[in-house]
This record gives sequence, structure tokens and C-alpha cells, in this order.
Amino acid sequence: MSRLDSFIRRLEAQRQCLGEAARLAADLPGIVLELGLGNGRTFDHLRTLCPDREIYVFDRQVAAHPDCIPAPDRLFLGDFDATLPAALQRLGRGRAALVHVDLGSGDAAASRALAAAIAPAVAELMASGAVLVSDQEMAASGLGPLPVPPGVERGRYFMAVRA
Ligand code: SAM
Repeated sequence: MSRLDSFIRRLEAQRQCLGEAARLAADLPGIVLELGLGNGRTFDHLRTLCPDREIYVFDRQVAAHPDCIPAPDRLFLGDFDATLPAALQRLGRGRAALVHVDLGSGDAAASRALAAAIAPAVAELMASGAVLVSDQEMAASGLGPLPVPPGVERGRYFMAVRA
């Protein structure tokens, strides 16, 4: 598969998983968390999928398309190490109905290690029944795997639910 094919499949998987997560969490009150603003593509998509929810975004920098920059009071700017504890303090435990983690870099091992390091804090931020969509497999106490939608290749994107 060419890198172009792989990129397209990744984006299709993101879109399908985010759509499925929004459907699954539709009746659960709560906020949305986007970890990894990047150029703002998935943040913009989440705004479309969840127009009535507050969306809080995390990144160490703002390098997004100008139309896809969150309001300052919805942005946790800095390393996840610092901003996830800050979010727990400011937003409280169990407030999120949907979380999207998209933190991958070119370094697969570092991306896996980062996902493993932040998974417990992400789980703490999630309400019971909340849905996690992520580009890395994430395991933490209280998180159980969910099947990805049909058509999404196994291992390309991941979904989980908070007990
Ligand atoms: N979801 C984005 C989109 O659709 O445009 C792409 C996100 S990009 C793959 C990953 C982002 O995660 C980068 O913007 C990077 O700065 C951020 N990131 C990676 N590690 C981080 C860390 N430890 N703390 C904060 N942000 C981090």
C-alpha cells in the first residue's frame, strides 16, 4: 500500500470512528476532549458532529488552520503531562462524554509510550459510558475495548468505553 493509500485510510478510519462515537455517546451529557489539535481537521469535524457540546482541546502548540483554532478558554496549551492534571482540576473528573486522542508522530514507539502514559488521566476525565477514540491502543483501569465500525481495518484506529 502506498503512503497515500495509508494516509487516506487513516483519515477514513478517523471519520468513521468519530461518527460512531458521536452516535454512541449521543444520549450521554458531557463535554468533548480533543487531544492533539494539529492542523485542526478533527477538531473541526467534532464541532460538526457535536454542535451542542463544549469541546476542550489540548496541544503543546497552536499550528492549526486559522478557522480551526479553539477559543482561548477551551484550549489547554502545553504538554499533556501538565495540561491533563490541570484539566482534571479545572473541569473535574468524569465530565467527558467523548474523547479523541490523536497524538501520533513519526516515532511509533514514542507515540505508544505517550498514549500509555496519559491513558489513566484520560480515563479519569471520562464519564461512565463515555467513548474514547484514539490513534493508539489505550489501556487503563475502567477502559474496555469497543469494536471499530465495519470497514475500519483492525489496528488502524481504536475505540474504547469507560465502565
Ligand atoms: N487531530 C489533528 C488533526 O486532525 O489535524 C492532528 C494531530 S497531530 C497527529 C498530533 C498533535 O499532537 C500535534 O499537534 C502535537 O503537537 C500534539 N502532541 C504530541 N505530543 C504531545 C504532548 N506530549 N503534549 C501536547 N501535545 C502533543
